[in-house]
Amino acid sequence: MPAVNCPTCKKAIEWSTDNKFRPFCCERCKLIDLGEWASENRVIKGQTPKGLPPELAQQLENFDEFDLGENDFFHE
Ligand SMILES: [Zn+2]
Repeated sequence: MPAVNCPTCKKAIEWSTDNKFRPFCCERCKLIDLGEWASENRVIKGQTPKGLPPELAQQLENFDEFDLGENDFFHE
């Protein structure tokens, strides 16, 4: 069986299709990694994405951080 290291905790795990969290060892490590990804992709205050309706852009500017980790996209 091929083995990989969990990207979050570096623990060696077996690469198995039974492991639905692969390449992570567990759900916790997967969520931690997704959280870090989301934090890197936060909309930064004062940098409103182009093309947004003015009302939405105004709302975004009122947030210090727009946490994409809360997005339903991450829930299977
Ligand atoms: Zn892990």
